[in-house]
Amino acid sequence: MAEASDTAPSETCARAIEVRGTVQGVGFRPFVWRLAQRFGVAGRVRNVNGVVQIRAEGEQQDVEAFCEALRSEAPPLAVVGEVTWDGVETSGAVGFEVDSSLGGAEGERFVPPDASTCPACLEELFDPNDRRYRYAFINCTDCGPRFTIIEDLPYDRERTCMSVFQMCEECSREYLDPANRRFHAEPVACPKCGPRLTLWDTSGRETLGDPIEAAAALLGDGKILALKGLGGFHLACSAIDDAAVSELRWRKSRPDKPFAVMIRDLEAARGLFDMSRDEEELLGSRIAPIVLVRDKGGLAPSVAPGHRRQGAMLPSTPLHHLLLRETDLPLVMTSGNLSEEPICIGNDEARERLGGLADAIMTHDREIVARYDDSVMLISDGRPRVFRRARSLAPSPVELPAEVAPVLGCGAELNATFCLASGRNAFLSQHIGDFDSEEAERAYTDALACYRRLFGIEPEAVAHDLHPDFLSTRFAERTGLPSVPVGHHHAHIAAVMAEHQLPGPVIGVAFDGFGLGDDGTAWGGEFLVCDWKGATRAGRLRQVRQPGGDAAVRDPARMALAHAMDAGVLEEAAELLGEGASAASVVEAQVSSGLGSPLTSSAGRLFDAVSALAGVCRLATYEGQPAMLLEQAAEVGAIPEYPFGVEDEGGVLVLDTRPMIAAIVGDLSRGIGPGSVAGRFHRTLVSAVLEICRITRGGTGIDTVCLSGGVFQNELLTSNVVASLAACGFQVFVSEKVPAGDGGISLGQVLVAHGKMEE
Ligand code: ZN
Ligand code: ZN
Ligand code: FE
Repeated sequence: MAEASDTAPSETCARAIEVRGTVQGVGFRPFVWRLAQRFGVAGRVRNVNGVVQIRAEGEQQDVEAFCEALRSEAPPLAVVGEVTWDGVETSGAVGFEVDSSLGGAEGERFVPPDASTCPACLEELFDPNDRRYRYAFINCTDCGPRFTIIEDLPYDRERTCMSVFQMCEECSREYLDPANRRFHAEPVACPKCGPRLTLWDTSGRETLGDPIEAAAALLGDGKILALKGLGGFHLACSAIDDAAVSELRWRKSRPDKPFAVMIRDLEAARGLFDMSRDEEELLGSRIAPIVLVRDKGGLAPSVAPGHRRQGAMLPSTPLHHLLLRETDLPLVMTSGNLSEEPICIGNDEARERLGGLADAIMTHDREIVARYDDSVMLISDGRPRVFRRARSLAPSPVELPAEVAPVLGCGAELNATFCLASGRNAFLSQHIGDFDSEEAERAYTDALACYRRLFGIEPEAVAHDLHPDFLSTRFAERTGLPSVPVGHHHAHIAAVMAEHQLPGPVIGVAFDGFGLGDDGTAWGGEFLVCDWKGATRAGRLRQVRQPGGDAAVRDPARMALAHAMDAGVLEEAAELLGEGASAASVVEAQVSSGLGSPLTSSAGRLFDAVSALAGVCRLATYEGQPAMLLEQAAEVGAIPEYPFGVEDEGGVLVLDTRPMIAAIVGDLSRGIGPGSVAGRFHRTLVSAVLEICRITRGGTGIDTVCLSGGVFQNELLTSNVVASLAACGFQVFVSEKVPAGDGGISLGQVLVAHGKMEE
């Protein structure tokens, strides 16, 4: 008698599966192999043009569970996009095989970013019995360099700068074993066969002995070390040795701009910084970015003068781990360059450019293919925001809200990036630095060549800033491709629309230092009504003269005098600033004649003016310094707000700053402290933004607001503007994955170019 079973044996089935996304170079094939073992599924897996193709055969329920797990259990560095399959004939296959990659230039191509050392590798790194004990180049499929070593796709060792290192027997065994953590870990290496560290003195002579120990001793001695990181050289010194930090500032010509600090681990970081759980998590993530956190005062004062927040990061490479444990000091870690130049990557280049800056150079014989700074992030209202998008973030694509034809966004000038887009993918480049020198131009064109090669995108059009003199604009012209000029502030807002997939129209509030407007004047405090195609100026800050043009950026007292003159309180302001009558009269003459002193509606320049008036920052040595210090100085609860006006000038709402400036000068003259004034100034701007957005909503019915521009990296301003708009029923979006500053411009340009070309 046949027994009836309530679990009927399930049918055998076979599926041809395709997985898209960032699935190359992240250990995806070995992961598939392991799943196949677990579910008893037979078949094979391979990479074809960046798509993982799988043939899976087995019991129906096992194949189903296998498919489910492809997404739900994907390895940490993978970004699984689409998983699709077709049923196919079963073939009676046994076993599961991993085939090598196939492919050329067709199809979508993704490159995983570099990832910080994983816990398993870290354990081996400090295990005296491991064959990679204290080996500075340990890595596996879950961690290590990717983008910084890849010369071309598909991602295999022969197309990386590791190809010159012949794997030893033991390494090849690991590399070829699907059950091993290092199966197809392309940069796999060991002390026997891989790259080697060296320490040079300034004359380029190799020092004997253990380079890590020697370097740590130098650092303990207050010396400055150049060291080759993942994407370029860093300069390092002890972050608790004020003399060393000051010396580094002097040599690097960087008088005030805050330095980032690397701490050996989370435990040590807790001793130095006051961090939320979100901040700790971000700090310890695979991105291992610089996170802006509140300082407890344990570091040398010259690390971040005037700042309550410090840029902190944990070690992201084995070399950093080794060095930080050896010194047991928090280390200043800043890019190896003179101020704002692109980061240095080559060994010869390092000798030449860093020889005078460092007391010793720690380097190695693995080449850096792509130049990469550290990423900078911050947690705002519980959400991570990117200020500088570089290591471990780029070149992951930003998903666009529409399919676009191949297009290149050339970016702006400061904190330059470009954006190469096609279909729904926008490959926003890593932060390149200020695009204002030949050096920067080389870094920009190198990176662009690399992106074109890797992602196989040949742009059919270029989008660029309206400013004719930006090197990025000239670069766009030289390509000879059809070009689309895009307003600077429109691009800022479009970047937010791209990131948050907004079709528009939206009210865009774009506050920054400077961008050329479509009327040929300097903009920077703008309210736009815009979609992807176009933007209309709905409001702006009142224009004032910028005495001496760019010179006023370095000398914020000039903006203070210009605003004071506009508000009719020049004399009182000059007294506050301690400027002699002559300085005031020079500015007065510049403002009256307008000579070399253009009108500007810039919010950044307004911050400069208030910062100088309040005595918070009288001279600026880095971009945004007066505004950043004003934010730091602000007393958060300070009330009441200052008076301001909003007037309609020919259909454009103008925020009249004069009553506020007059009141600020009055307060300061009466001896009211800068903290209170700074706090009330922030509060006033929040109200003014809300007011103009409400009037604009009344006229247009639009209740979606996007905030962008460098001024919205100001956390105090941003969180309060967001809260007050939200409380009035607005839907508010800010830059999160992409910098609010000019680093996001190229992404916005791409979306606007698409909008205009669709027309
Ligand atoms: Zn690892
Ligand atoms: Zn080896
Ligand atoms: Fe800007």
